This record gives sequence, structure tokens and C-alpha cells, in this order.
Amino acid sequence: MLLPLVPLPTFREQIGGTLRAAETLTTLQINVGLACNLACRHCHVQSSPLRTAAHENLTEETTGRLLDWLAAASDVTTVDLTGGSPEMNPNFRPLVEGVRKRGKRVMDRCNPTILQVRDAREKLVYDWVPDFLAEHKVHVVASLPCYLEENIRKQRGSNAYSDSIEGLRRLNAVGYGTTPELRLTLVYNPTGPSLPPPQGVLEADYRRELKARFDLHFSELWTITNMPIARWRDDLQRRGELENYERLLREAYNPATIDGLMCRRQIHVDSQGRVHDCDFNYALQLRTPGCEDRFLWDLDPTTLVGREIRTAQHCFGCTAGAGSSCTGSLTQ
Ligand code: SF4
Ligand code: SF4
Repeated sequence: MLLPLVPLPTFREQIGGTLRAAETLTTLQINVGLACNLACRHCHVQSSPLRTAAHENLTEETTGRLLDWLAAASDVTTVDLTGGSPEMNPNFRPLVEGVRKRGKRVMDRCNPTILQVRDAREKLVYDWVPDFLAEHKVHVVASLPCYLEENIRKQRGSNAYSDSIEGLRRLNAVGYGTTPELRLTLVYNPTGPSLPPPQGVLEADYRRELKARFDLHFSELWTITNMPIARWRDDLQRRGELENYERLLREAYNPATIDGLMCRRQIHVDSQGRVHDCDFNYALQLRTPGCEDRFLWDLDPTTLVGREIRTAQHCFGCTAGAGSSCTGSLTQ
């Protein structure tokens, strides 16, 4: 006889109430826009080459406003740029230069295939990227969901593997992954409905395989759990795997992950300056409580510490197993 499934608590019940930000705000994450040369199966913001509309991509005016806000946010040490492919935005370079001038670190969430994009005359469009990033000592966080071709092909498309390897080679060529100040982090996410393997073990596998196969170097590997939202959710639903995956995340709840949740020390803005607690909440259009009608430049940075964070069921994706954040596993 089949036993009925025991109902699991909601995220709020599980953590015993409201999740609050920490007493220091260290990071501003900016989603500069949704334009991307790829359209990956697991993409939680549903980026693609078609998402070039102005209302989904950072303008010069908004860039200026964000930089002005940063000048007053003295505790913020890091600006984390995500997208889409951030380098596709015409304001990417002024933004990076402006952030560096204000003495903050920059992280660029770079899909390395962008370095292989060519125009109609076969000229590389983003040829400038490696030197520009190196000149400004940008920390490159490059997605490489696997070191095996088949897995990348399934998730990202047919040429994504060779283009990723070539892109990483070009980053290595300017010193990324071998020079301490040019940090190159690779990012793994599972190709199926499972939790990532232990980060340290997988990092050793990546290091061994990428060195042996391509003589590639990198600084470290971060593992990130796939969120059951947007494209990945639709995909799981089509395959009848959504319910099991959500249950897996909830049953793997780990209270030791709470302190390190990325939303506790960061604030997120989209390309229009609207405020969210993280990129997943942005994808779900869940605004930071109390900031629903406000833009980042309307807010004093000190009011963002200790704030209430908007949580929902997808937050189990961050607290499952070893935990997951934009900077990898939370407990390993
Ligand atoms: S490369 Fe990143 S932003 Fe672009 S479609 Fe893939 S997951 Fe989305
Ligand atoms: S999805 Fe993760 S980072 Fe975002 S609010 Fe929930 S717990 Fe925080």
C-alpha cells in the first residue's frame, strides 16, 4: 500500500518567520539586461538574442544614476554584473570604469561563448573583452556547466562547448586563472533535477580534466543549484519531474545555509533600477518589501541593512544540501 506523502512546511514556516538582511550591505548586483547570444534551457531570466528591447537593458542615464548611488554606499565593496551577457550592453564599459573609479571591485558573470560571437564578415564582435576585463582587474565568473561536451550541448546548444573552451583559452591568454589578481571562477550547475555534487570534489575533477584536455587554468569552481523557476521549471514540468525536484529541495533543507544566503548582504537592481533581493526574485518580479514603488537611487543605503527579504518557495533552492548562492556552495 502506498503511504500518503507528508505535507512539507512552507519556506517561511521552515525558517521560523521572516528572513532579514545582515547588518552590512557589501554587494550591489546589477542585472544589466536580458540580451544574450545563447538561450539556455535552465536560464532563470529567460535570456536570448531576441531580448534587446530598451526596457530590458541598461541605459546611459540609469548607469549614471547607479554610479551616483554607489558613491554614497561606502560599505558596498563589490558590484556584481549579471545578465544576459553583460558585455553585450553598450553601457558595460562605462559602468565597469565608473565602478572601478569609485574604488569597488567588479564581478562579471561572463558566458565565455560571447568571446566567439562573429559578425556577418566573420569578425569577432567581443574581441575587446579579455583585455578590457584584465585592465580593470575584473573578477570573471564564467559559466561552464560541465567539462564534458555532451552535457553542455544539451543545456546550451550545439557549438557552446567548443566556443566556451575557446573563450576560456582567450581569458587564460591575458593572465586570467594564472595571475592572482586576475581571478577566473568557473560555475557549474546540474544538467538534471539533482543537487550539485560537493564543490571541492568537483573542482578537483574540473581542474584535472580541463588541464589534461585543453591545458586550461582557472582559480576556483562554484557550484550553483538550479532554481525551479522560469525555463527550467517549464522544462521539468514537461518531463513530469517538477514535483519530485521541488520535494528534493525542500527535504534537503539545511539550516546551516541561512547565515550565508546571498540576499542577506546584497541588494539587486534590474536594468531599470528597480530593487529586488536577488536575481531569482527579479526573475519572478518579486520586489524587496517596502521598495515596490521605488528605485535604488530613492533609497539611502543604510535603510537596506536589516530589511525584510521577500521569500517564497523557490528559496528552498538556496538552502538545499550544501546551499547555493551566486558565489557557490554556502557550507563547503
Ligand atoms: S548564458 Fe546565462 S544568461 Fe545567457 S541564456 Fe545561458 S544562462 Fe541565460
Ligand atoms: S531565492 Fe535565495 S537569495 Fe533569493 S531571496 Fe530566496 S533565499 Fe534569498
